[in-house]
Amino acid sequence: MKTIIEPFKIKMIEPIKLTTREEREAILRRAHFNVFQIPAEEVIIDLLTDSGTSAMSAEQWAGMIRGDESYAGARSWFRFENVLRELTGMAHILPTHQGRASERILFELVGGPGKVIPSNNHFDTTRANIEHSGAKAVDLVIDEGKHARSRHPFKGNMDLAKLERLIGEVGAERIPVCMMTVTNNSGGGQPASLENLRAVRDVCRRHRIPFFLDACRFAENAFLIKQREQGQSHRSARDIAREMFDLADGATISAKKDGLVNIGGVLLMRDDALAQRANNLLILTEGFVTYGGLAGRDLEAMAQGFVEVLDEHYLEYRIRSISYLGEHLLAAGVQIVEPPGGHAIYIDAAAFCPHIPIEQFPGQALVCGLYRHAGIRAVEIGSVMFGAVDPDTGESAHPAMELVRLAVPRRVYTQSHIDYVIEAIVELFKERERLRGLRIIEAPPALRHFTARFAEI
Ligand SMILES: *Cc1c(COP(=O)(O)O)cnc(C)c1O
Repeated sequence: MKTIIEPFKIKMIEPIKLTTREEREAILRRAHFNVFQIPAEEVIIDLLTDSGTSAMSAEQWAGMIRGDESYAGARSWFRFENVLRELTGMAHILPTHQGRASERILFELVGGPGKVIPSNNHFDTTRANIEHSGAKAVDLVIDEGKHARSRHPFKGNMDLAKLERLIGEVGAERIPVCMMTVTNNSGGGQPASLENLRAVRDVCRRHRIPFFLDACRFAENAFLIKQREQGQSHRSARDIAREMFDLADGATISAKKDGLVNIGGVLLMRDDALAQRANNLLILTEGFVTYGGLAGRDLEAMAQGFVEVLDEHYLEYRIRSISYLGEHLLAAGVQIVEPPGGHAIYIDAAAFCPHIPIEQFPGQALVCGLYRHAGIRAVEIGSVMFGAVDPDTGESAHPAMELVRLAVPRRVYTQSHIDYVIEAIVELFKERERLRGLRIIEAPPALRHFTARFAEI
C-alpha cells in the first residue's frame, strides 16, 4: 500500500467552531491584526505551535489516573526514570516543568560572565537563559542552513571549522558546554546527521568541552537520520536516538514536543558532581528530585509519551504529513524553506507578497490573510518577531528572512485538515496582490510580537 494513514483512530473529539469570513474579519480587527490576541476558540486550524499541543493517547490518559502523587519516591517517578534511562542511558535524570526550566538550571551552573556557549542554532529560550547568566550564545550552523532554497539533507549540522575557530579564539576553558539543537528549531526544524554529531563530539572531547543536546525533537531527528543518512535505513529510530544520546554528556528536553505531553521537561547529565549541584537547584526552584515541579500523573504521561514517540509507524506518518504539506505548497509555486523538516513548514513571506515592502511586515500580512481567508492561525517569524527599532536613529533592523511558520501539532489534525490548509494557502497565493501591508501602532520594547497592535495600510 502506498497511502500512509494516521496510525491511530479517534476516541474523543474536540469540536471545531466554524466561523464565517465576516466573523473572522471582525475578530481580526478586535485583535488589532495580532493573532496572539485571538481566542483559540475562534481558530479553525491552529498551527501557532507544536509545543504542548499534542493529543495524548488512551494509555497516557490511563497513566494520568494511575499517577502516584506521593511527595517522594512515587511509583510514577520510578516509571519515568526507567523509561528515560533506557531511552538515553544517562546516569542522572531530573524532571522539570518544561524545557526552559532545564535550561535555567544548567546555565546557572555552567554559564556566567566571560563564558561562551556555541550551538548550531540556539532556540530563543536557550539563548535568553544563557544571556541571563551573563554568558554569550553563539550560532555555528553550516552555511547551507541559512539558505531557504538549499536542499542539503542535514541543514541543522554544525560547521566544524567555525567550532574549531571559536575554540581557538576564546579558549576551551571559557566554553563550559557545547550544544546541538536536534532538530534545529530556529533553523527551520532541520535535522543534524549522526556523522556531524559524532564529529562535534570528537572536537569537544579533544578540547575537554562537555557536549550537550537540546533534544526536544530527538525522535523526529532520529527518523530523518534513518531516512536521509547513508547506512542508517536499516536501524530503528530508537537505536539511532540512543546513539545520539550516547554521544552526549547531557541534554535538556522540553517534553512538550516529542514527549507528546502538554507540560513537562527533563534535564539529563552524566557527571556526578554537576548533577549534585543541579539537584540542589532543582529542589530550590522546581521541587523535590522525584517530581521536579510536576504532578505524578504528568510523569506517567511523559513516560508513556517518550515510549510512543519512537513508534516507527507514528514517525513515518508524522514526517510524511509535514513533507506532504510542503510538497503541495511547492507544487503550487509557494516558496518554502526546503527540504521540509520535522515539525513545521516555513513559508517565504517576502517571496509570497513581493508587493509588500519589508517595513510593512509581509509575514504579518500573510498571517492575517490566512486567518481571514480560512481561520488558520500561523505565526510570523520575521521583522515583527526579530526586527528592532534603533532608539537613537529610529531606523529599523530586519532579520535575514521573512518567514511564516505553520507548526503542526502532533496527532491532532488529519489529512483532510492538512488538505484544507493547502487549499487555503494556494487560493490566497492566487490573489496575493490583495494582501495589505501593516504598520505597528503600539508595541512594548521587548517580545513585541505577543502584544503589538497593527493597522492595515
Ligand atoms: C520549545 C523549545 C525549548 C523550550 O522549551 P519550553 O518547554 O517551551 O520551555 C527549548 N529548545 C527548543 C529547541 C525548543 O523547541
